[in-house]
Amino acid sequence: MKEVRVDNLVKLYALLLLQKQVHGYEIIKTIKEKLGRNASPGQIYPFLKKLQNLGYVKIRKVGTRDKKVYVLTKSGERFSKAMIEKFGSMVELAVQNRLKTCAHCGCEIYSGGHSEKVKGATKYFCCPSCAKAFRK
Ligand SMILES: [Zn+2]
Repeated sequence: MKEVRVDNLVKLYALLLLQKQVHGYEIIKTIKEKLGRNASPGQIYPFLKKLQNLGYVKIRKVGTRDKKVYVLTKSGERFSKAMIEKFGSMVELAVQNRLKTCAHCGCEIYSGGHSEKVKGATKYFCCPSCAKAFRK
């Protein structure tokens, strides 16, 4: 596996965001929002460029104004998985505030999910059918 240094949480978070196609500025904005850290363009774009040079990231043009989005390639996905495993505890730290567990099946809800009031208390579920099964 080719090497690129993922030596801080900002880079790791950028890798996480690349699971879906994403604009460079969205990476910067989301890191600011979710991590409360300033990720400068001078930090993110060279990192994206490096990933691109290694074949881990490819650029797609979308929309009428040819805006660029970044997306992981197959080998980029493998690389990102390896990094996520390596930095598992850091990732946990990054997502723990947002992480909820489905009250019915116990799976972890990373985004979205479904909440409902059950006997006066708000419960979180991964999906409406888990909520339905829980109420029974
Ligand atoms: Zn569930």
